[in-house]
Amino acid sequence: MIKEAKVIFHNGKQYIPDVRNVKLKAPFRGRPEISNVKVDEQALIDICPLGAISLNPISFDMGKCAFCGECAFAFPEKIKFTQDYKISSNKRENLIVKEGENNFIQFDKEAIRLEVKKTFGKSLKLRQVSAGGDNSCETELGAAGNANFDMNRYGIEFTASPRHADGIVVTGPITENMAGPLRIAYDAIPEPKIFVLCGVDAISGGVFTDSEAIDRSILKDIKVDLFIPGNPSHPLTIVNGLLDLTR
Ligand code: SF4
Repeated sequence: MIKEAKVIFHNGKQYIPDVRNVKLKAPFRGRPEISNVKVDEQALIDICPLGAISLNPISFDMGKCAFCGECAFAFPEKIKFTQDYKISSNKRENLIVKEGENNFIQFDKEAIRLEVKKTFGKSLKLRQVSAGGDNSCETELGAAGNANFDMNRYGIEFTASPRHADGIVVTGPITENMAGPLRIAYDAIPEPKIFVLCGVDAISGGVFTDSEAIDRSILKDIKVDLFIPGNPSHPLTIVNGLLDLTR
């Protein structure tokens, strides 16, 4: 008994008591801030391999960004990554940060479907579909349920069968080969259900955007309830996004 008590005392609290208010440290890269300092704009745009930076005004699309940090290394006076991990949103356009507008990422509570608010506030079972993913976001989704981040305390869990799920979390750019299975898994989930895109590849295709081997046509007919940026997404970004959607 004393031995067990010693182990418990030694381990301390393994879980994060408040996932809403964690102070992360660099090198974690979260929400970027763009200053009004004048720089060679074309050089700034050209440095991004994913076309995540655009002009007039200079904007930074977190749905396309791989968070490689190259733009901030080359133009530190212009772009700075904060450690703000609350970067998920239910609107795609809210993932775009503009020059001089360094605000928190907005979540449009009014746009959340009524049945989502009413049904999933205390329990949310999700089926994860890796549609050509590289196992990075998948690993972080697994970590979101570990003893540290413990999203299970909010009733959010993954389930093996889509029949037992309330929604799908997609990772990966949605390859041709996975487009059909993703559709089957989505159709197998009873209504009401949610559809979540996790990670840059799922949100925009990422580095695979122009590949002929992806088939993202499913996104034309399904409304996305939550976009979780990151490459891969941080567990705190995942948990906070799901809580914003369902609480
Ligand atoms: S951090 Fe994002 S925006 Fe900057 S260069 Fe990398 S991918 Fe592009």
